[in-house]
Amino acid sequence: MIIGVPKEIKNHEYRIGMTPAGVRELVCLGHQVLVQRDGGASIGLTNDQYRAAGARLTNTAEEIFAAADMIVKVKEPQAEECAMLRPEQVIFTYLHLAPDPEQTKRLIDSNAVAIAYETVTDDHGALPLLAPMSEVAGRMAIQAGAHTLEKAQGGNGTLLGGVPGVSPGKVVVIGGGVVGENAARMAMGLGADVLVLDRSIDRLKTLDNLYGPQLKTLYSTVESVETSVCDADLIIGAVLVPGAAAPKLVKRETLVNMRSGAVLVDVAIDQGGCFETSKPTTHQDPTYSVDGVVHYCVANMPGGVARTATFALTNSTLPFVIALANKGFQRALSEDHHLRNGLNIYKGHVTCRPVAEELGYEYV
Ligand code: NAD
Repeated sequence: MIIGVPKEIKNHEYRIGMTPAGVRELVCLGHQVLVQRDGGASIGLTNDQYRAAGARLTNTAEEIFAAADMIVKVKEPQAEECAMLRPEQVIFTYLHLAPDPEQTKRLIDSNAVAIAYETVTDDHGALPLLAPMSEVAGRMAIQAGAHTLEKAQGGNGTLLGGVPGVSPGKVVVIGGGVVGENAARMAMGLGADVLVLDRSIDRLKTLDNLYGPQLKTLYSTVESVETSVCDADLIIGAVLVPGAAAPKLVKRETLVNMRSGAVLVDVAIDQGGCFETSKPTTHQDPTYSVDGVVHYCVANMPGGVARTATFALTNSTLPFVIALANKGFQRALSEDHHLRNGLNIYKGHVTCRPVAEELGYEYV
């Protein structure tokens, strides 16, 4: 199979859909890989590395879309990329179609085979191609929060780990899923005093079994959230209610009772945010203050650590890319219902139920 990896063109997207190691795996299996020149240059993946791995470099995305049987990307195809897709050509990438009727229409019109990372499932009922970005965002939340706690960034001047003779900072993580666990792990690693709240007792039990007494857990209620955030230096919002906007767990009126210079990192901002005062920010201008509480609400946190995020993502996507390349998409999808769950558009029809229901298409 000919597999194409174009350079990402979405604003401030530095990740790339395949690393040189991924190229080498596919080439060893007898496939051809086309990579757009400088596709990974901004995160230190050089043209020479891709060439040494066996890729053929192209100057333009057009050459890739014209020749490849399958396109492997990171972000949803932009309008000019959709226009280059061919019938029966496979595109494997993040799509996030439910809130995006224009892209959905363009993919339908293309007659391409659109497989979305975010709806591929696993045996545990989880989303294995979303999880790596949650891991990255969770760990980064502590790094960003620790930096924002510095006085010059508007924070209250607390060092999360403390020092001998000085208490550590208090970190409260609301939501103990993938983001929350990774945030808690990083915060414990720095020596902070860490509390995780979740409304799933099973989840709290799992975390307790994994981390023991170093990690405090608390059942999440209106009362426990309010009390906890008022006694914290750094609060991480990491809740998810599948298919719904994030619940607003910290109300505006609570802010005045919080520590001045406390920091809120709202990782759930991509689902609307779990603090009432959250609004999306960017890596260029990540924070703002409300009532003396600093908010960090960057909607694409993994983009800030695009090199790590690329390796994390491609580690997870590569086995699926290999299956699609070795078997062809029809056999690969029919033999793996988890990968089949990733199929969002096929032969001009919407084949993912939530997308069809959200956008008013017939589900096929
Ligand atoms: P997850 O499903 O693994 O975990 C979510 C957890 O929230 C679950 O354990 C659930 O029980 C808990 N929860 C739900 N309601 C709660 C409540 N009222 N109180 C306390 N806990 C509650 O999800 P995840 O992968 O950890 O993702 C968390 C959020 O982070 C999602 O909104 C996701 O979209 C977002 N995210 C954002 C970025 C970014 O760049 N900003 C990156 C990755 C993920």
